[in-house]
Order: sequence, then structure tokens, then C-alpha cells
Amino acid sequence: MTLLGGVEAGGTKFVCAVGRGPDDVRAEARFATTTPAETLARVVAFFREHAPLAALGVASFGPVDLHPRSPAFGSITTTPKPGWQHVDLVGPLRRALGVPVRVDTDVSAAALAEHRWGAARDVTTLVYVTIGTGIGGGILVNGRPVHGLLHPELGHVRVPHDRAADPFPGACPHHGDCWEGLASGPALAVRWRQTPERLPDTHPAWELEARYLALGLVNVLLTVSPERIVLGGGVMTRTQLFPLIRAEIVRLLGGYLQSPALKEGIDDYLVPPALGDRAGVLGALALADGA
Ligand code: ZN
Repeated sequence: MTLLGGVEAGGTKFVCAVGRGPDDVRAEARFATTTPAETLARVVAFFREHAPLAALGVASFGPVDLHPRSPAFGSITTTPKPGWQHVDLVGPLRRALGVPVRVDTDVSAAALAEHRWGAARDVTTLVYVTIGTGIGGGILVNGRPVHGLLHPELGHVRVPHDRAADPFPGACPHHGDCWEGLASGPALAVRWRQTPERLPDTHPAWELEARYLALGLVNVLLTVSPERIVLGGGVMTRTQLFPLIRAEIVRLLGGYLQSPALKEGIDDYLVPPALGDRAGVLGALALADGA
């Protein structure tokens, strides 16, 4: 059976895998994201070693142009990452490897992987949100990633910000105190002048963090009505956040939505990823497979 290739293209590292799924990864490589030319050359070299492939999936950091009729299809657009603005990911890989290349955001790919193999196998409408160096979200409706004008940018939704209680102006370079600006890992680090890893579990930072995460998630929940929400990313490795966020979501909803998932079932509704930090690269394999 011909193998598939998957690339998780991240702002700090690229992860490449050859295989068909979590139990069938034949080769894997990870390397730091440097210049586009050097990084893409390493991707090409890795996959040439493992040819032939049936197809390649690319799970990219964003924003990325996913409009099939756009001249910039498959390019990263307005990233703050130096040197990576308007870089075409798909064209050079397709030309160098001679295989179909399918692309989506890293978070849509992670949602696909969790749906196919992980924590959301039994539902078809779900949201995957990562809280780490930024906040990003992938939305699957009927098992398919949602695209429209562009792709969803959940990290930049607005949440109430009580400046009397929390005078921190926010860390988003575009919006200041959007969701990501208030609740990403870098926002935690700047607000508390401490890397999040060093903040003890009992620090008041976590209660405020849970509050902001719940506010954003309630907006997503009320808009998309997902059957499950999967929360990943570096910040969510602080697992004490899960019960705090669940309780705050229930409180914010005020009993309005009538579903057992949002009451006694909340522990199974808002869950960590089953695939951990492999969801992105596995999602790239799912994309290669035509997911
Ligand atoms: Zn923003």
C-alpha cells in the first residue's frame, strides 16, 4: 500500500511523517523552522528519502490562503514570523515531490486527527482549540473543516475585559486584548512577569486564565454548537485548568442550554486531546488521505 506524507508546519518547528496513522508511522523527522528556502528544502529531502508517496498533507500555521481559486492558494499570508509572509508552501512541495498536496490550518488538521483517531471519534461536529504561543481553533462540521471567506480565526475573537480587575492591555500585535492577546502563553508571561511553566498551580493567574478561556469557549459553543470541544496546546498541559474552565462554562451558560453534555456530562464534553502534541502531524496525514 502506498504511503502518505504529512507535514506539520509550525512557527518554531516542522514535523514530517510518513505513514498512514498513529499506529503506522514509518518515519518521522522534526527540525527548527529557519528560512523558508532552507526549511522547505529539508522537507523535500526527507520525503524524497521515503518516496514514493501517494499524497502529501500540510498542516500549516496561519493565516494561510485556502481558497482554491486564489492565486495565492497554499501560501502563508500575514504571519508576524519574519521572512514567512506570503510564502508559498504548496507549490514548491508539489513541484519538488510530484504528488498531490493538500493543505489546511494546523488546528483544522488537529481537529481532523482527533476526529479520526482521538478524543472526538464518536461525534461529527467538534472544535479543537490550542492554547499555547497563540490561540487557534479548527472547526469541523459534519466531519469537514469549516472554510468560508478565509478560515476561522478563533484566537482573535473578543471577550469581555474588565480593565479595573485586569489592567493588562493584551499581547496581540493586531488587536491588543483579543482572546489570544489576553490568554495565550505569551500573554500569561507578560502579565505575570513569569513564564507560565513557573507559575505554581495555586497562583491567581490560573483562575483568571480559566475565566478568559471559558468566555471565549462559550462564544464558540453558542455559535457552532459543537458536540465536543478538545483543548490542547502548551498552556493546557496545566491540567488543573480543565475543571476550572468546565465550571466557569456551566456558570456562564446560566442553565440556558438544555443538554446533559453541559451539565453532568461536562467532563466528557471539554476534554484534552487523545493524540497529545501529535495531533497536528497526524492531521496532516489525514489531509493527505483526502480527509
Ligand atoms: Zn488578536
